[in-house]
Amino acid sequence: MQWSTNKLSDHKKLYAEELYPLYDKAEADTFVNILIKSFFGLSRADLVVDPDYRLSESEMLKLHFAVKDLKKFKPIQYIIKKIDFLNTRIMVNESVLIPRPETEELAELIIKKEKQPGLRILDIGTGSGCIAIALTKNLDEASVFGIDISKEALNLASKNAFINEVLLHFVQLNILDPKPFPDFQDLDLIVSNPPYVTLAEKAAMKENVLRYEPHEALFVDNDDPLLFYKAILYFATEHLVKGGRIYFEINEKYGKEVCTLMSRSMFNNVVLHKDINGKDRFVSSIKF
Ligand code: GLN
Repeated sequence: MQWSTNKLSDHKKLYAEELYPLYDKAEADTFVNILIKSFFGLSRADLVVDPDYRLSESEMLKLHFAVKDLKKFKPIQYIIKKIDFLNTRIMVNESVLIPRPETEELAELIIKKEKQPGLRILDIGTGSGCIAIALTKNLDEASVFGIDISKEALNLASKNAFINEVLLHFVQLNILDPKPFPDFQDLDLIVSNPPYVTLAEKAAMKENVLRYEPHEALFVDNDDPLLFYKAILYFATEHLVKGGRIYFEINEKYGKEVCTLMSRSMFNNVVLHKDINGKDRFVSSIKF
């Protein structure tokens, strides 16, 4: 690769302009700033202080390939390979969903409500491990387990536990076909953000999600949109203690249905919670 300049400010300007036709201008500028901060540790202010900052050949290449990926609508989180989730740092790759702000709200809700120490918690469909790790870090002496159908996701979740210095137990398991696992008896709490986007809703989704994020973590059949919730509630009848709690993230369209499903199972105190955008997004309830 041949460049006429190795000044970061020149590259920055050039790449932002290359992205303007594809993204909103402010978004393109933000992306370039995020790359520079993540790759070289330089903020916008640092570049004002040192406007002549020069890049090495390998740094220029790194930026070049990152912008190439952005032009293919690869999500920036997969390019910089990490995201902050509450007070944790979570690595992401294409085997896991990028944690959404809503899921951060779900973890916050649990941290706010569940104050007693030593809870036994299971996160079903743990993915990157973001919820499980945030709960371990923020609840007193909790023992947290995470299960997922994907081996690749669990490898990443284990690395995330390591970098956040928490001890967690991850097990590969399909909740639609659970095998007995003795450690999952007497759980105090089950949390899950299962696949809940129907295939009918797929058409309206953005290309960056559809092309890069794992479909098995996102989609559920139109004819049984509550499939995972039913399986989890069935699992909970056996594994959750009396008085144990469930916290779900849900598709905003199915708030009422999930609540009804829970009231018809062994649950009461069913509460539908809204997310920051005012959408029905979480359901919590207590087993009787
Ligand atoms: N909230 C995610 C999205 O909008 C979906 C998460 C899920 O299916 N559990 O893409």
